[in-house]
Amino acid sequence: MSLVEVDSLTVEFGDLRAVDTLSFRLEEGAALGVVGESGSGKSTVASALLGLHRGTGARVTGSVRVAGTDVQEADGEALRRLRGGTAAMVFQDPLSSLDPYYAVGDQIAEVYRVHSKASRRAARARAVEVLDRVGIPDAARRARSRPHEFSGGMRQRALIAMALACEPALLVADEPTTALDVTVQAQILDLLHGLRQETGMGLILVTHDVGVAAESVDDVLVMRHGRAVERGAVADVLGAPSAAYTKELLGAVP
Ligand code: ADP
Ligand code: MG
Repeated sequence: MSLVEVDSLTVEFGDLRAVDTLSFRLEEGAALGVVGESGSGKSTVASALLGLHRGTGARVTGSVRVAGTDVQEADGEALRRLRGGTAAMVFQDPLSSLDPYYAVGDQIAEVYRVHSKASRRAARARAVEVLDRVGIPDAARRARSRPHEFSGGMRQRALIAMALACEPALLVADEPTTALDVTVQAQILDLLHGLRQETGMGLILVTHDVGVAAESVDDVLVMRHGRAVERGAVADVLGAPSAAYTKELLGAVP
């Protein structure tokens, strides 16, 4: 069994087919970059991995399995287990995922407490531990800061800490560095790399920036109009792209 098994996934929003019969696998602990231009369906795939289309108007066919759980079919309890431990997601804009009125540490503690049933005290300790792990200096004190008191890079670190708190087997990161400047971008990619090595979690890194994927993943899946154009080892696909579209993405052809 692979960590992620996507078979003939199709996601439609009304008349628009955002993802079209997409299939791919991710083995435990591996890292896959999902690349493609804006609108190619990357975020729709990312959301499907956590069952985020359920209960929305989106029409989903095909199947998505994460660690053996059928994400579309799972009952409430299995879905909670999936979202609260098996898989976690980090988005482009940390401010949209963090409540501006509450201390960052409290928000991480709350997420952890809901999913792990830990005591408040243990959850607060876990929040400080993961904030420290992602490189927030003086984590015990900074845990009491609210999101706007953090820089953009620190907020993204905090969001990664939140995702890490429940020790996910899979981290889905949707454009996690897009809003950051180049130096901070590199630091966040380094952090993700280190965490992968340390925890053995699988990573799906969604990005429109092939350069970001090239530095951070083993394999890439190139998407266009909701379909997979090609997939393979980073060096093969980006070094010698077989699809004209991939060459275009790389800027290899005018
Ligand atoms: P990407 O992440 O590659 O930029 P998306 O997955 O966000 O692409 O979007 C793919 C297509 O689906 C786009 O045309 C987008 O406008 C459309 N889309 C995405 N989410 C929704 C939604 N909730 N409702 C309607 N259309 C959507
Ligand atoms: Mg997107």
